Amino acid sequence: MTTMEFVRIPRLTRFLDPRQNYGETTIESEIRLDPLTQFSGRIAHFAAGPRPVVDLDALNQASLVHGCPFCPEMVSRVTPKFVPDIAPEGRFSEGEALVFPNLSPYDAHSAVTVISRAHLMRTHDFTVAHWRNALIASANYFRAVNHVEQHIGYGLIAGNYMPMAGASLLHPHLQIYATDRPGNFLKAQIDAARHYHQATGDVFWAKLLQSEQEAGVRYLGRTGAVEWLVPFVPLSFIGDVEALFPERYSILDLTTDDLQDFAQGLVQVLRYMNDTNLYSFNIAFYPGQSVEDCTWVHARISFRGMINPVLNSPDVSAIRQLYDEPFTTVFPEEVAAELKPYFARA
Ligand SMILES: [Zn+2]
Repeated sequence: MTTMEFVRIPRLTRFLDPRQNYGETTIESEIRLDPLTQFSGRIAHFAAGPRPVVDLDALNQASLVHGCPFCPEMVSRVTPKFVPDIAPEGRFSEGEALVFPNLSPYDAHSAVTVISRAHLMRTHDFTVAHWRNALIASANYFRAVNHVEQHIGYGLIAGNYMPMAGASLLHPHLQIYATDRPGNFLKAQIDAARHYHQATGDVFWAKLLQSEQEAGVRYLGRTGAVEWLVPFVPLSFIGDVEALFPERYSILDLTTDDLQDFAQGLVQVLRYMNDTNLYSFNIAFYPGQSVEDCTWVHARISFRGMINPVLNSPDVSAIRQLYDEPFTTVFPEEVAAELKPYFARA
């Protein structure tokens, strides 16, 4: 029996403060270690100002100057089709969602999932059906790749919503690809989860869920079979939300019900974003290849924004870009307290 360790290393800084007539002041910050990977993150810079209201209508107009390849009148003419052994009809569709090959692939099997017919979708415009259908269509693509290759490796689903999250197009879409190279972060998680399993006989994610449910501070609740919490070490400068799919180990293990349950929780997070002037996020699914990776499928929603809206300063600066150290301006426990009402059962 191993207890989950949530290591916090507090720091105190003393200086003479011009805002207090040069009286001595102390400022607190904190370094945290991720309980799985031991990767560190900082919680600091608490003086972030109020979040600006972003003029989405202006962004929308600018984004349509040269037309949009993902809008319904263009998408079937300008996006690629799959070869017949992947998709005899050329693309996968489910409701408004459409999956087609990525013109600029990340790996041998690399696709784009357009989520909505509408070009501009504000956070509160998304329905559960939008996300459920986008994820079902994405899963159908992975199943087709698996059928052809007899193996998909890691089925990755990632998204950049709005320009501050790195979206090159405003039209909501996901990048999905199958790969044997899961990327540095997911590889570190899987290596650590396998080590944890060897050392304890337990699945880290089951213990994490149990620990967070017992403590209650960062645990948000469940939507159907999907469990929600705020991670102890965020990757965003504002905060992250994490969804766990208990006992699901590969992207192919996710059922239609699982995807519906996830979509429900995501729409609740989007309502919180709408209410708090958060307009941009990244999303990523972290699956293993199989049960042998000892990793429950989980997903993160990472809020994005500007450090200085007046200058359009992005939230990634040297500490994140070059030292690979996340820092966050809000305590995760405060983000969890704000999010919990959105997960309360009516
Ligand atoms: Zn569009």
